[in-house]
Amino acid sequence: MTERGNFMTNLASKLKRLYIETVGCQMNVLDSEMVVASLRRQGYDLATSVAEADTILFNTCSVREHAEEKVYNQLARLKMLKAEHPEKIIGVMGCMAQKDQQLVFDRAPYVDLVVGPGQLHRIAELLEKIQQGEGQQMAVSLGRRDGTQEDIRRSHETFDPLRDPSMRPTPFQAYLRIQIGCDKFCTYCIVPMTRGPEQGRSPKDIVQEAHELARQGCKEITLLGQTVNSYRYKDGDKETRLADLLEQIHEIDGIQRIKFVTSYPKDMTRHLLETVRDLPKCSPYLHVPAQSGSDEVLKRMKRGYTVADYYEMYERIEEILPNAAVSSDFIVGFCGETDEDFQQTVQLVKRCRFKNSFIFQYSVRPGTKGAELYADDVPAEVKQRRNVELLAVQNEICQEDNLRFLGQRVEVLVEGPSKMSLKRGEEGPLRQMTGRTHCDRIVVWDGNERQAGQLMSVLIHDVSSHTMFGSVETVELSNQPLVMPVLKN
Ligand code: SF4
Repeated sequence: MTERGNFMTNLASKLKRLYIETVGCQMNVLDSEMVVASLRRQGYDLATSVAEADTILFNTCSVREHAEEKVYNQLARLKMLKAEHPEKIIGVMGCMAQKDQQLVFDRAPYVDLVVGPGQLHRIAELLEKIQQGEGQQMAVSLGRRDGTQEDIRRSHETFDPLRDPSMRPTPFQAYLRIQIGCDKFCTYCIVPMTRGPEQGRSPKDIVQEAHELARQGCKEITLLGQTVNSYRYKDGDKETRLADLLEQIHEIDGIQRIKFVTSYPKDMTRHLLETVRDLPKCSPYLHVPAQSGSDEVLKRMKRGYTVADYYEMYERIEEILPNAAVSSDFIVGFCGETDEDFQQTVQLVKRCRFKNSFIFQYSVRPGTKGAELYADDVPAEVKQRRNVELLAVQNEICQEDNLRFLGQRVEVLVEGPSKMSLKRGEEGPLRQMTGRTHCDRIVVWDGNERQAGQLMSVLIHDVSSHTMFGSVETVELSNQPLVMPVLKN
């Protein structure tokens, strides 16, 4: 055993403070929750800074180059800390770990651990090995061509039954993964490589987990999948789809809201929309990324639908769920995107009037078909200009649509003190509180911390593009019937 190995062994029994930082999508938030749960079982406790931690983990995202560079910069900043405290263990997990593998060690040789998202169940064992002096550890899943289909699938499986409520955004809300991986292979996207083949989890496990979440006091469950509405699970002749899962979870006492993200336009079926309409706990909120309003660009992106298909789907939503809020994602500046293509995207946003849109500038991802086939030929300043223009169009729509809530009561699930309250350092029970409507709109009001976790009626008296401002008027409420007529969205 090396000198460093001896040192690690002596410390093995004491190294129990974990600092974990998470970037990226809801999948990563959930993965971090799982990792913390598994490490708590090994006696770890959470630290609030790298300085007080013995183990430092970064849960990373590979969707954009910028997110990766941020992690590498953070690692570079830890170089000195590691030199002064060689006993601290530094680990990189998540999609960037899966994508870069040995490159993480090459760029930051003082990193101890690299773990892909499909191997997170091994993290406790790998940390133990490092503490025992066995050197750097790496656990990644198989590449899409590196084995039999079954071996590849297995190597990407997750370990969802472990949960740690303390890692959730709030104790009343939880993510529940129903699907991992993706087989759509959009040409700009790295997810099919980092998260592996699309696999639906067994309905039995999902429903069991939902019961457990309800038992823990969770009121809102968000079902997660890269293309969540493509979910299918076959057991002999029986096939379970997302609509079936919604029906089963809807039966669970204590669960009051059910959402699902992210949807794929082609799989937004009439049956699914009717199920959402008929189950009152299902939020009439749908996140269905369009990505572009140009057929040429969609073809190069290999999204599998045309603009006409997207409009057709959108009309189906309007017909079945006329009060639904729909949000979208857009990539501006994808390879070969002309001004005309971009203007078609602007038209799509104006036509669909999304509740909100997440807008990203295209960034080449090595390992994708886009990187192999197309030149990243839209200049950075053009991407930036299009981003700003599309955002302005979307913000105007948000502002106009929120205006219709003025003077209305909305039903809100109270999440806790607002970001502003935390920023101002407000103390005591009287705080600015925040919550979301059934349709995922953000509402803030001057309230009380004790309201957290409740479903409440809030009267809206002001709006901005992304927030509605309201009040809980108890005097008025006392003159009203106990159950207030409220706008469900
Ligand atoms: S559907 Fe396309 S964008 Fe979404 S995860 Fe799959 S490959 Fe990526």
